[in-house]
Amino acid sequence: MRKKQLEILLSNLKEMDNPNMFEEQYTTPGDIAAEIVLFAYYRGDILGKKVVDLGAGTGRLGIASMILGCKKVYFVEKDKRAIEILKDNLKTITLKSNQILGNYEVRKGDVLNVLLRGDTIIQNPPFGTKKRSMDTKFLKKAFEIGDVVYSLHKKGNCDFIRDVAMESGFELVEKKSINFPIKAMFDIHKKKKVMIEVELYRFMRCYDERKSRD
Ligand code: SAH
Repeated sequence: MRKKQLEILLSNLKEMDNPNMFEEQYTTPGDIAAEIVLFAYYRGDILGKKVVDLGAGTGRLGIASMILGCKKVYFVEKDKRAIEILKDNLKTITLKSNQILGNYEVRKGDVLNVLLRGDTIIQNPPFGTKKRSMDTKFLKKAFEIGDVVYSLHKKGNCDFIRDVAMESGFELVEKKSINFPIKAMFDIHKKKKVMIEVELYRFMRCYDERKSRD
C-alpha cells in the first residue's frame, strides 16, 4: 500500500468529537499515524507481529498496523466513548479495505493494569501535561509487555526517557522529530490548532548476555 493511500484511509476514520483535554485525547492525524506505523513497518516490527496499541483512542495506530499486515492487534483504551468510535472505525475499515485484515481484540480498561504480551507496542500516550508522569507510566508498562516499543513524546525529555528505558532493560535506538497539531486549549470551540514538536522513539529490549550463556 502506498503511503498516500494509507494516509487517506486513516484520515477518513472518525475521531473524538469532544475530546477530554484532561485525558489528553489528541487523535493522531492520518498522515502522522501513517508515518509512525510505516516507520515501524520498514524496521520489520509490523508484518506478522502481535501489536499492542496502548491508549488506542479511536484506533488509528492499531488500524494502520492491521492494514500493513500485522498478525493481531490489542487495542487498550479506558474511555467508553473512544471505544464506541474505535469499534465503528473497525467496521468501516473492514468494509473499505479489500484485503483480509488480521485478528484484533478491544480491551476496555486502564493501560496501567493491563496483562498481556505483544511483540511491538505502539503508543501516543498522554504527554503528561495534565496528569504528571503519565507518559513515563505508559512507557514502563510498554517495556513490561513488549520487545520493541514505539512511543511519541514531547520534545526535550530525551535524556530522561533514555534513563527510564535503561532501568527497564531497554535501549533507545532511534528517534524521529514530528510536528504534531493539537487543538489549542482555549480555542477548542474555534477548532484552532497549534503545532507542538514531538519525538517518536524506537526502543528495543537489550540483549541479555547472561541468559544466552545459561
Ligand atoms: N492512540 C490514539 C489516541 C491518543 S490520545 C491516537 O493516536 O489517535 C491518548 C489516549 O489514551 C486517549 O484516548 C485516552 O483516553 C487514553 N488514556 C489515557 N490514559 C489512559 C489509561 N490510564 N488507560 C487507558 N487509556 C488511557
